[in-house]
Amino acid sequence: MMSNKGCYTLSLGALSRWLADQAEGLGVEIFPGFAAAEVLYNEDGSVKGIATGDLGLDAEGKPTANHEPGVELLAKYTFFAEGVRGSLSQQLMERFNLRDGVEPQTYGIGIKELWDVAPEKHKPGQVIHTQGWPLTDTGGGGFLYHQDQGQVAIGFIVALDYENPYLSPFEEMQRFKTHPAIRPVLEGGKRVAYGARAINEGGLQAIPKLVFPGGALIGCAAGFVNVPRIKGSHNAMKSGMLAAEAAFQAIKLGGTGGDELTAYPEAFRASWAYKELYRARNARPALAKFGGLLGTLYSGLDLWLNSLGLGFLAPWTLGNHEDHSALKKAAEMTKIDYPKPDGEITFDRLSSVYLSNTNHTENQPCHLTLKDAAIPVAVNLADYDGPEARFCPAGVYEFVEDGDSGGAQRLQINAQNCVHCKTCDIKDPTQNITWVTPEGGGGPNYPNM
Ligand SMILES: Cc1cc2nc3c(=O)[nH]c(=O)nc-3n(C[C@H](O)[C@H](O)[C@H](O)COP(=O)(O)OP(=O)(O)OC[C@H]3O[C@@H](n4cnc5c(N)ncnc54)[C@H](O)[C@@H]3O)c2cc1C
Ligand code: SF4
Repeated sequence: MMSNKGCYTLSLGALSRWLADQAEGLGVEIFPGFAAAEVLYNEDGSVKGIATGDLGLDAEGKPTANHEPGVELLAKYTFFAEGVRGSLSQQLMERFNLRDGVEPQTYGIGIKELWDVAPEKHKPGQVIHTQGWPLTDTGGGGFLYHQDQGQVAIGFIVALDYENPYLSPFEEMQRFKTHPAIRPVLEGGKRVAYGARAINEGGLQAIPKLVFPGGALIGCAAGFVNVPRIKGSHNAMKSGMLAAEAAFQAIKLGGTGGDELTAYPEAFRASWAYKELYRARNARPALAKFGGLLGTLYSGLDLWLNSLGLGFLAPWTLGNHEDHSALKKAAEMTKIDYPKPDGEITFDRLSSVYLSNTNHTENQPCHLTLKDAAIPVAVNLADYDGPEARFCPAGVYEFVEDGDSGGAQRLQINAQNCVHCKTCDIKDPTQNITWVTPEGGGGPNYPNM
């Protein structure tokens, strides 16, 4: 399972553009630049479709001269493919109790850069996966993929169940690049792109019920990532195909929609994707349960037994815990002193965000909503020393002096920098931040990531 021989390394952005052409060639209509902002329901409670968000609202939510109301897209079955921690998918899980009886979903934050490297250092097809360093007591690791056009995709994933509020996944990624086995690959090269995105790490045991009346969750909205392999796109595609086949059959048999497509979860259960995820199910929880060294040994043994068809010797399934609940108070933990960026191999947040081509219309409602505006200072800053300023890889959250109140702090949200990684929605210790879709078309633009 851990072998990458025969796999392709490529840009998922480029693959998606190619797939879009194929789909349009088959008559599929694609609406890029529109966010699905709301789930629409029939009177009987089944999902009717979605509504796209309004365009041209000002920061207070009032229509401007450019206002265009959202449109409704209705369907017999609506598939939600929002990727990890989808904002509507979260609502659906709650409304239809889709997470009842499954383990909590857990996540990592992946930070990735593209580098044009010196020609003599480029080894097309080479794949390097690492684990651990520079992390000490938190799970995570890095990857280097030598892609075409002389580029290397390099990234680092930090498990979001870390305890120390002083930990900064962004700075850990910067440190990762200074390892003596990594730095030489980048020296003499040029960083050309930057991005960040959470990744599901909960495994098979965290996959929710996949269907509800009138729709289904597919891809990473449900969480089909094979964590030890750091691969989810194959299972995302497979789940979409299985759901599509189930809907096609139901409609062919005269179905009018609005019911549960139970054939989809049944087909998933019988698929190679389920078998693969079943074999990998204990790898990530073992690291959380037993720590880096013992957990890795356990995972290796478990994967090895499964690869030999001896998985029945370890038939149990380990559980997960919610990432935000793992954060400890600042007073219990030690501050981490990260080195300053050198501007050649390591960089700061703002120059990084610049390379993500992130753009949001400035005058629009903030898409990083707070349930209680007082909590960031009263709890997050007071108890955890403001971890959102560190776990956000785009510098969106800043505690600044509030000019009007004699030195007191307030949380400033630079929402226009948000790269839509969803980490704040996941890791905020008080679960006070809810990520909602910004105005359609806003966000990072990753041409070749
Ligand atoms: C750092 C990192 C490295 C990875 N490396 C690999 C790898 O090497 N191989 C591999 O197979 N997998 C890898 N994965 C996992 C892989 O990226 C995912 O499993 C896969 O992209 C999931 O596909 P998806 O279509 O379900 O979701 P996504 O690819 O996340 O696509 C969802 C899309 O929906 C959009 N969206 C979300 N909400 C809305 C909304 N409400 N309205 C409109 N649009 C919306 C999002 O902006 C996004 O474009 C990696 C993940 C990370 C984070
Ligand atoms: S604001 Fe939240 S979603 Fe946006 S980049 Fe920061 S952590 Fe990610």
